[in-house]
Amino acid sequence: MLTPRSSCRPLPADGRFLQQIGPTPLVPVRLETDGPTIWCKLEFLNPSGSTKDRIARYMLEKAWRLGQLCPGGEVIEASSGSTSIALALASAQMGVRFTAVMPEGVTHERVLTIRAYGADVLLTPRAEGMAGAMARAAAEAKKRGAFATLQFENTDNAEAHRVWTGQEILSQVPGGLVHAVVSGVGTGGTIVGLYQAFREAGCPVTPVVARPIKGLTGCDLECCSFSARVPGVVEGMSKLYREDQLEGLQVLNIQDEVAVCTARALIKRGFPVGPSSGLNYAAAVEAARRLGPHAQVVTVFPDRMERYFSTELIQSQEPGRPAA
Ligand code: PMP
Repeated sequence: MLTPRSSCRPLPADGRFLQQIGPTPLVPVRLETDGPTIWCKLEFLNPSGSTKDRIARYMLEKAWRLGQLCPGGEVIEASSGSTSIALALASAQMGVRFTAVMPEGVTHERVLTIRAYGADVLLTPRAEGMAGAMARAAAEAKKRGAFATLQFENTDNAEAHRVWTGQEILSQVPGGLVHAVVSGVGTGGTIVGLYQAFREAGCPVTPVVARPIKGLTGCDLECCSFSARVPGVVEGMSKLYREDQLEGLQVLNIQDEVAVCTARALIKRGFPVGPSSGLNYAAAVEAARRLGPHAQVVTVFPDRMERYFSTELIQSQEPGRPAA
């Protein structure tokens, strides 16, 4: 973890903030009787409901200790996803203000969740997309003298997973041995940090990127007749993620409806996860099949299903429909 330097300031809140995030369980999950067992890190159990609590804590702690973030200060991030929710929670605990900048059109529950923590939401024109939100966040941070966490370029993002999530997994997986690590890429912090942790521990690890692609058929777990996207997993936006950092990289294309079907199957088995967990699990099964029965394959369940109540993950199951 971070070592305080003599010139650094102690953290506020006497460790309340420190204690709630991780360690999360690593559990063996096998969905199909003849399928492989995958080691799944239940990151949705973190307090704000996602793995992003770790990077929020890590980035803010560091900024605090280095004096880049002060009592009464402000944090800004351009994110429409879990990172803003995690930063809203972390900022509330540290007693600093947080502003999330995101394009119009994000789900209502996300905006409500962030505001519930006392944070501000600044909406940018939908047509400008995430690029518009990022530009506005940079401009606002400059104008207000706020600390911009910049998850897509802040190396502390991947570092949080290298020194924290990765070490937890190594202490939980049998023999401390990981043969493959599987994750979808948003910022790339998860795959880069975990891969580095396992390599440094001497594991013969293959990094596997789960890439969602648009597809119409292919789910044999449970029939779905729609095409869905996997929020949070969009390659090509991050300065942290470079394929040449990941030796032996394999990229597995997973149809987005397979990702959603797999998430639903996981939910029915008692893992209340979002679509990216389904994506990761489906790719991990494919990776395990390729590597053979003795491979220990690790993946992450990044966030919770409640975040997707207004999306097709849950809605298309039509819970309120009267029986025919
Ligand atoms: N799943 C979800 C739900 C996410 O929000 C994200 C990142 N935005 C990811 C997976 C990908 O993780 P990373 O950013 O570490 O690549």
